[in-house]
Amino acid sequence: MYHNNTYKNKKSTMQLLLKNGTYIHPETLEFIYGNILVEAGVDGQFQFIKDIPSDNNFQILDCTGKFITQSFVCGHHHIYSALARGMGAPKKNPDNFNEILEYVWWTLDKCLDAEMIEASALYTAMASLKNGVTFVIDHHASPNAIVGSLEIIAKAFEKVGASHLLCYEISDRDGMDKAEEGLNETAEYLKNHQGLVGLHASFTISDETLIKAVELANQTGSGIHIHVAEAQSDQLHCQENYRMSAVERLKKFGAMESGKTILGHCLHLSENEKKIISNSPVWVVQNTESNLNNRVGYFNADGFGENIMMGTDGMHSDMLRSAKAAFFVGQNFDTIGYDSVYQRFRNADKYLHNNNFKGHGPNNLVVLDYDTPTPFNTENFYGHFVFGLESRHVQHVISRGKLVVENRKVVTVDEEEILANAKVQAARLWAKMRG
Ligand SMILES: [Zn+2]
Repeated sequence: MYHNNTYKNKKSTMQLLLKNGTYIHPETLEFIYGNILVEAGVDGQFQFIKDIPSDNNFQILDCTGKFITQSFVCGHHHIYSALARGMGAPKKNPDNFNEILEYVWWTLDKCLDAEMIEASALYTAMASLKNGVTFVIDHHASPNAIVGSLEIIAKAFEKVGASHLLCYEISDRDGMDKAEEGLNETAEYLKNHQGLVGLHASFTISDETLIKAVELANQTGSGIHIHVAEAQSDQLHCQENYRMSAVERLKKFGAMESGKTILGHCLHLSENEKKIISNSPVWVVQNTESNLNNRVGYFNADGFGENIMMGTDGMHSDMLRSAKAAFFVGQNFDTIGYDSVYQRFRNADKYLHNNNFKGHGPNNLVVLDYDTPTPFNTENFYGHFVFGLESRHVQHVISRGKLVVENRKVVTVDEEEILANAKVQAARLWAKMRG
C-alpha cells in the first residue's frame, strides 16, 4: 500500500503529455498533429512540443491514431434524479406535466437526505466524466435537506474531478419557509463558490421570492437559473395570476439583465418573449430528450438569437447524445442544422468563458478513440459530429490538466465502491418514497 500511494502522489504532480495525437481545435476545427504538454491547475493551458526531452518527468499517454479536443459541458443537469433509474411507478400515473412533477420529482426530491445527495452527485460526476463532460451546470432540489446541500454536491464533484456551477432550486411550492431556506442556502454557498441563484419556475414563485432572488443575484454578481415555459401550464398560470407571460414577468423584476442568467427549455414563448430574449444577454438551454419524455413540446430556436446551449435535464450525462437528439428531433421542429448543432453543443464553453467562470480552460480535454471508416478532417467534421462521434469513443479525459478517466475508467475514485453505495442509497430512497 505504501508504494502504491507514493506512486499515485508522484503521478498527480507530474505534467501530462499527450503523445502523437491529432488535436481538433474546438472553434476553428483545424486538425493539428503533435505532442501536447498539459499544464495542471484551474487556469492551466497546454502547449505543443516538437521534441520530448529524454530526461522528462512527464506522465506520457500514447495518443497515436487518437483525436484530442476540448472536453464537454452539460448546460442543465439535475443530480437529484440520479437514483431514479428503474424505480417503481408513482402512486398515480401522471396525466400531464404538472402531475409528473407532483407524483414523480416532487415526491422524490422531498425524500432526499444528505447521504442520498452525496451518492447522486458522486455518480453524476463519474458518469459525466466518462462521457467526456468535465463541467456540469446543475440545478438542485431537496426540500427536506436544503442546508448544506450545495456544499455536499461541490465536494463530491471535486472528489471525482469534475468542475461545476451549482444552484439550489428556490421555490414557494412547499411554503415560504422553504423558499427562505433556499435563498439562505444560496447566499451561504455563493460566499465561497462560483454558482447561480436557482429558481424552480414562474408558477411556483411569488413576486416576493422573485424579488429576493434577483436581489441576491445582483448583490453577489451572479445570475438566475430557472425553468421557463417547459409546459404550457407555466404560461397559463402566469397569465391568470399576473396578466403577463413568464418572460415578461422575469423582465419586469429585472431577471433578464445578466449574461450569467440561464433559462431552461423555453418551449412555449410568444414572439414578444423571443424578442425580449434576443435583445437581452441571457442564455437559453435546450433539453430535447427530457421534452420528448415529458411530452411537453418541441424546442425551436427561431427568433431566440445566438445564446443557446444544451443540457440533459437530469436524463443522463451524455452531451454527445443530447446533441444528436436535438439534431434529429430538430429536423422536424427546429431551425437546427449541421453547423448550428455543433455551435449549440459548444456554446456552453462560450457561456463559461465570457462570464469568467473557472474550470473549463484549455487544459480540459478528451482523447477520442474514433474508429471511422471514412476520412475525417476539418471540411467534413460536422458530418462526423452528427453521425459518428459517440461517448463510447471517449477513451481518456483530462480535467483541469489532470487525467481523470484513463481507458474509460475513472481513476480519481473507486467506481465500484461509488456504484455499490449508490445502490444502497437508491433502495433507501425508493423505500422512503413508498412511505
Ligand atoms: Zn430542469
